Amino acid sequence: YHDRDGVIWMDGEFVDWREAKVHVLTHGLHYASAVFEGERAYGGKIFESRRHSERLHKSAQILGFDIPFTVDEIEAAKVETLARSGLDSAYVRAIAWRGSEMMGVSAQNNTIHLAVAVWHWGDYFADKMKGIAMTHAKWRRPDPKTAPCEAKAAGLYMICTLSKHAAEREGFADALMLDWRGHVAEATGANIFFLRDGALHTPTPDCFLNGITRQTAIKLAEARQIEIVERTILPEELSTFSECFITGTAAELTPVRSIGDVDYKPGEVTEALVTDYSDLVNGKIMMPAS
Ligand code: PMP
Repeated sequence: YHDRDGVIWMDGEFVDWREAKVHVLTHGLHYASAVFEGERAYGGKIFESRRHSERLHKSAQILGFDIPFTVDEIEAAKVETLARSGLDSAYVRAIAWRGSEMMGVSAQNNTIHLAVAVWHWGDYFADKMKGIAMTHAKWRRPDPKTAPCEAKAAGLYMICTLSKHAAEREGFADALMLDWRGHVAEATGANIFFLRDGALHTPTPDCFLNGITRQTAIKLAEARQIEIVERTILPEELSTFSECFITGTAAELTPVRSIGDVDYKPGEVTEALVTDYSDLVNGKIMMPAS
């Protein structure tokens, strides 16, 4: 990713893509004092852009720092970076981190940096509409008393990369992570939904990100008069569901074909919501009122 043409917005200026560097003694690198966003633009417009910028601010606050750019300034940076990329459909990555003045657990006065990069990123999964095969992760989502789960914080992704790599080594596309209690939580970069008897069941987001795509999928389902049941889901229940899909900015709505030895059929409800989501992000339908 570092070796390509283009520009990246860094701390208020555009720098050449290959020159967008940080020092090796950056606090964010050593101690994961970084928060980020993943967003997608469709037809030149970033979907739910402002909510992502607001979440970035909130994530930073949870980690105890203030981003030295307002939400409006971040919005402007994203719009300009997207425009400069020349891309219509693109992935947008905003990241804020503690700089390199002090090295140690304490870094009270380190400069806070912000960067925005935009690049082409097609489907997150190959053959997405066939449904992905998932395995079980050995790592669990931490207790909210152990880690600040509501922040989209770089540090929380250590568990995700461990789980994703383990899944990929065995030929799976992704892994289902349980939470610290052993309840079904989410995939390594997306939330999860299950269908049973016409109702959608999804875990209560009390120790993982309540994704913007997750909230959008709920609105789309409600607009179709599909009942949403947000609750504790136990792994023993996985075989009682007929359809399953995951939601995330990168994953969009991706059907799940199996989790471990349980099979699902990407069916009518999943397909309808995949279409609705695509229509929504492409501006063909309006966001349903909640
Ligand atoms: N959970 C995790 C761990 C994620 O990385 C993501 C992607 N940001 C999500 C859920 C879904 O969040 P969103 O729909 O806001 O992209």
